[in-house]
Amino acid sequence: MTVTEYFTNIKDTATSIFEGMTITLSHLVRKPVTIQYPDRTPRPVKETLPDRFRGFLKVDMEICTACLACMNDCPIDCIKIVTKKDEALKERVLTQFDIDEAKCMYCGLCTEPCPTGAIHFTKEFEGATEDLSSLLFSFVPENQVIIPYKALKKEKEETVNA
Ligand code: SF4
Ligand code: SF4
Repeated sequence: MTVTEYFTNIKDTATSIFEGMTITLSHLVRKPVTIQYPDRTPRPVKETLPDRFRGFLKVDMEICTACLACMNDCPIDCIKIVTKKDEALKERVLTQFDIDEAKCMYCGLCTEPCPTGAIHFTKEFEGATEDLSSLLFSFVPENQVIIPYKALKKEKEETVNA
């Protein structure tokens, strides 16, 4: 190494340290940008989420036809739907509709084939828990059955023509 290179290296090192310290010191006089989530945000975080945000799934059982399309399209078997023929009611009923949100990867493949939009994403996202079983969402109350929604012929025609 020549004498010139030696002093050039010293100069470059000093310049580098000076630039780094300038940036560091500039942060001493800036306001902190830390956001105190969740209780001190200017607005509730859910209100700031975009309309197409994918939070927990929800099923509107009033318009679920029990077609099983969502269950069949889930690539990792998060959804379990059970139906049976109810002898007293003389029709097919839903006895179970569970979604395991602990497994769900929010891909949306279950929402796309739903003929009525019954299964959809919400803006709920706070799922941190030590008990994964608490993320198993059941949409048919225990020991109850739900009669699947049947679209009227007119509604079906409107859907087809839309
Ligand atoms: S979002 Fe994807 S992973 Fe989650 S239940 Fe629907 S299909 Fe399954
Ligand atoms: S939520 Fe939609 S896709 Fe799933 S069973 Fe009900 S109607 Fe069919």
